[in-house]
Amino acid sequence: FLPHLIASLEQVDQTYIMVKPDGVQRGLVGEIISRFEKKGFKLTGLKLFQCSKELAEEHYKDLKQKSFFPKLIDYITSGPVVCMAWEGVGVVASARKLIGATDPLQAEPGTIRGDLAVQTGRNVVHGSDSPENGKREIALWFKEGEVCEWTPVQAPWLRE
Ligand code: GDP
Ligand code: MG
Repeated sequence: FLPHLIASLEQVDQTYIMVKPDGVQRGLVGEIISRFEKKGFKLTGLKLFQCSKELAEEHYKDLKQKSFFPKLIDYITSGPVVCMAWEGVGVVASARKLIGATDPLQAEPGTIRGDLAVQTGRNVVHGSDSPENGKREIALWFKEGEVCEWTPVQAPWLRE
């Protein structure tokens, strides 16, 4: 009874993961989705999408003052991206670990950026940095009805 109660109190979070245009162009979409799928998180939203300058600027609004901001917006809007929503206990921090450091040369081998990229300006994937931003970014990139609530058959084999 007690472990059950404690488990039910654990917070289920959502994170926004995006394969950036370089990841799509380089044919890394399946590989990147696969890392999160194999880990055991739940996919709740997925689409290929060409984003507008306005959406890219809103997504990265906290970086507006940075010198690289115009280049960043050009990069993110340079081709289609793959938008994903993933759900799970601890998913935000865990996804950041799976993705690795912002600079792919500093990212550990075994991480997505550590294995698949060489430069910050072409670091193949985005992941939300907090549960609050996870919610904000999913609401920004997905329309109502595009995120699905479902129960994977493997759920009891992933968490006791
Ligand atoms: P992230 O959370 O690890 O993606 O890193 P940040 O939130 O700090 O930056 C967002 C994105 O802006 C990064 O993933 C890079 O694509 C880009 N970026 C950050 N710093 C630089 C930089 O110094 N130069 C360039 N060209 N892009 C940068
Ligand atoms: Mg960030």
